[in-house]
Amino acid sequence: MIGRQGQTVAFTVDVEPDCPPFLHGFRGIEQGMPRLLDLLASRGIAGTFFTTGDVASRYPEIVARLVNDGHELACHGMTHTAFPDLGEDAARDEIDRSAAILRHFAPVTSFRAPYLRFPSSYLPMLERAGFTLDSSQAIYKLAYHRERRAAASTPLARVPASITSSVLRLPRALRAAYLAALSDPVVLFVHPWEFVDLRREKLRLDCRFKTGDTALRCVAAVLDRYTARGARFVRMRDLATAT
Ligand SMILES: [Zn+2]
Repeated sequence: MIGRQGQTVAFTVDVEPDCPPFLHGFRGIEQGMPRLLDLLASRGIAGTFFTTGDVASRYPEIVARLVNDGHELACHGMTHTAFPDLGEDAARDEIDRSAAILRHFAPVTSFRAPYLRFPSSYLPMLERAGFTLDSSQAIYKLAYHRERRAAASTPLARVPASITSSVLRLPRALRAAYLAALSDPVVLFVHPWEFVDLRREKLRLDCRFKTGDTALRCVAAVLDRYTARGARFVRMRDLATAT
């Protein structure tokens, strides 16, 4: 069983180089993205694509396609650098430069930091840059619960990721157990490089297992199961006022 009847599900994609910080190529963008976009088009599902400014500069045609296909274009920083490693000026530069590049393609109001790590003291930078939603937190990370207790006050809607991407590639029964435990809104995320066969790369096991065709089939099965159970698929910006 996956989830309950009629859940709200946001399918999101972090559009970035291949498995950073281990790999630095763009096979995911060149080979994985078209397959993922085809899958979503075949199901009529609109998702949210958190894209780095760097990828948008290198692959404008793929960004134009995802916008054309009806997906939300969102921001994933400029260079996929972890924000806790950046001083204030560098952090502001990452946000402002990537937002400017992405906004050539579409309005961009949702943000997710690389590695789901973003200092709450930097939240005002997002607000000043015109963002209304932040998805840099993850319910399954300790930092999320620490920050909730600290209750950083911000006008941004904060919608955390529900589950780490590799869970979607687990065997069906195990995956179903994880998914059944998620509460609304369910925020799933994947990376384009997961749809390229990386099984022989020198990567952590959770990065490489069942990558390629199998990963695509797993995502299709997850989406179909949610659809069968009456889920409502939303883009992240649809959740900006709902939290
Ligand atoms: Zn990322």
